[in-house]
Amino acid sequence: MEIYFMIVFFITGVIFGSFYNVCIFRIPEKLSIINPPSHCYKCNTSLKPLDLVPILSWIMLKGKCRYCGEKISYRYALIELLTGILFLLIYNIYGYNIQTIYYLIFISMLIIITFIDIDHYIITDCLIILGSIVAILANILGQGIGIKNSILGSLICGGSMLILTSLIEFVVKKEAMGGGDIKLFAMTGLFLGISGGLLTILLSIYVGAFYAIVVIVNSRLKKQKYNSMIPYGPFISIGALIVVLCETNIISWYTGLF
Ligand SMILES: [Zn+2]
Repeated sequence: MEIYFMIVFFITGVIFGSFYNVCIFRIPEKLSIINPPSHCYKCNTSLKPLDLVPILSWIMLKGKCRYCGEKISYRYALIELLTGILFLLIYNIYGYNIQTIYYLIFISMLIIITFIDIDHYIITDCLIILGSIVAILANILGQGIGIKNSILGSLICGGSMLILTSLIEFVVKKEAMGGGDIKLFAMTGLFLGISGGLLTILLSIYVGAFYAIVVIVNSRLKKQKYNSMIPYGPFISIGALIVVLCETNIISWYTGLF
């Protein structure tokens, strides 16, 4: 029975991932996410059900459009697979209950926000607003982490990053962090509360610093200039994801140190 639920969650995740691909492509272009139905962006042919099976269609068609041969990025299949794996992991941790849906919604928002940020360097307000409304409603209905913890988490995370960013910008006279990143921290606080939100800030700084070191060392070795414009949204999402998947482990490890 357990394995049956695991398969159901994985497949559901993969199907949702396919829809998130549409959102990632269309939301920044201000296109409807429902109409027109999926079509090839090169030859405009409407895709048939057989072309739309997540992951499998991409493998069977060897990453090319069936009608015009245009290359289709592996990223579509990757996002479908990633969403499937994350749905499965969250089910494994939180089990078959409403808490799981709470975190699935949060992770789904993060996936869409992250890939739009990677492509366009923007964090769309509509997704932050939608996520925040869901988090507040769920917590009012008593299905999340508690409304007090949620609101305080949002104020503390969003507020502390706003103060920190303003200070850095005052000193270096350069934009340190986009407004979208601060809003994303505030939304993360709503979903994860005070301790989860603060842990996300800490982890995002570590992951971001690690990435920056890799990029700089790599560019030195290859004697190439690197692109210093890096979106910060993905690091916030990775931090939040680590918190969702292993917050209790991290806290017990940390308190065990003392
Ligand atoms: Zn085509």
